Amino acid sequence: MTTDPLVERMRPFGTTIFTEMSALAVRTGSINLGQGFPDTDGPAEMLEAAARAVREGAGLANQYPPLPGIPALRAAIADHERRFWSLPRDPDTEVVVTAGATEAIAAAILALCERDDEVVTFEPYYDSYAASITLAGAVRRPVTLRPGPDGRYGFDEGELRAAFGPRTRLVLLNSPHNPTGKVFTAAELALIAELSQEHNTYAVTDEVYEHLVFTDAAEPHVPLASLPGMRERTLRISSAGKTFSCTGWKVGWATGPAPLVSALMRVKQFLTFVNAGPLQPAVAVALGLPDTYFTGFRDQLQARRDHLTAGLTEAGFTVQPSEGTYFVTADITPLGGTDGITFCRELPERCGVVAVPTQVFYDHQEAGRHLIRFAFCKRESVIDEAAQRLTKLGS
Ligand code: PMP
Ligand code: GLN
Repeated sequence: MTTDPLVERMRPFGTTIFTEMSALAVRTGSINLGQGFPDTDGPAEMLEAAARAVREGAGLANQYPPLPGIPALRAAIADHERRFWSLPRDPDTEVVVTAGATEAIAAAILALCERDDEVVTFEPYYDSYAASITLAGAVRRPVTLRPGPDGRYGFDEGELRAAFGPRTRLVLLNSPHNPTGKVFTAAELALIAELSQEHNTYAVTDEVYEHLVFTDAAEPHVPLASLPGMRERTLRISSAGKTFSCTGWKVGWATGPAPLVSALMRVKQFLTFVNAGPLQPAVAVALGLPDTYFTGFRDQLQARRDHLTAGLTEAGFTVQPSEGTYFVTADITPLGGTDGITFCRELPERCGVVAVPTQVFYDHQEAGRHLIRFAFCKRESVIDEAAQRLTKLGS
């Protein structure tokens, strides 16, 4: 018996940075701009529908929903996907509801990857990617995103081409991208699509920030699945958490061609089986809200991004422009920082604010050592106070 009962392949994964930093915020009474969760509730119609379903479940809403999700939510997901992305889906065979995007990502990878298959993804990556790939016994092939001269993140075409090979099983793409706030351009997506088809791989796209692309982004968000030749090989994943400010509900979904959705579901049924029965009808209501909800939410987040970006710049950081998501990254070098982990661990003591070091989201950690991430999905007054506190850093 070894002293650590955890299987060997998971030992490199400690407590997630989000858990560590949120605990640090609580312990030090700091403003938490680390973990990405809003500090206000989502649309009233959605909250009311959930309360109603819990109260009036009549023995159904509070019991197991069907494995693929309740029909009303699957229909709403299909309608939403046609309305915003012109992607028609059959709600009976091409849609599955999951326990957040996290379960959809894990189930997709576990369903599609044999041991030693390779997954091409971009670093910094959302932390569950590395863990899910490892759980599947697969191998990640990360391509590094680096800030260019204008501060926007990009990647080297040669590096992406080199990442694809005979063992590549799928490409896992997150756009709009956490933590960089990057929205992949049409040219970048075309290259990914070309390589994916050349190497005959699947694609899994994480689009949880699909509605958070700011009006000054270089280009609009385009789902990879909508590119020629990609629909039949792509599982598209999203979640209610970010769009409707309900990260604790963990209602996500995946859409795609029936064989891929079926494969994901066959794994998913042994992970959670189902979840969030009474929340499913409420998310169906939210997905059907008028366009003004979606644009209004984006505008609100954009104003908060601007507010925080100005505060960070004033405090002395070099800020990488964010085109979408809940997040903005900043370079700590001008403030004398050299290591984001140390910087973030000391930040509460220095000024009562918590951020997340992005280097933990890289295999090539040196590429992100000087970068940290701030979440701006917080009330204006909270961002104001954080900006005020951060000015102490320069003094
Ligand atoms: N992907 C990305 C890029 C995220 O930022 C997050 C965090 N919400 C998730 C997936 C997980 O989503 P969920 O909470 O719906 O599982
Ligand atoms: N997605 C959120 C973030 O990036 C947090 C998710 C989590 O805590 N696992 O901050």
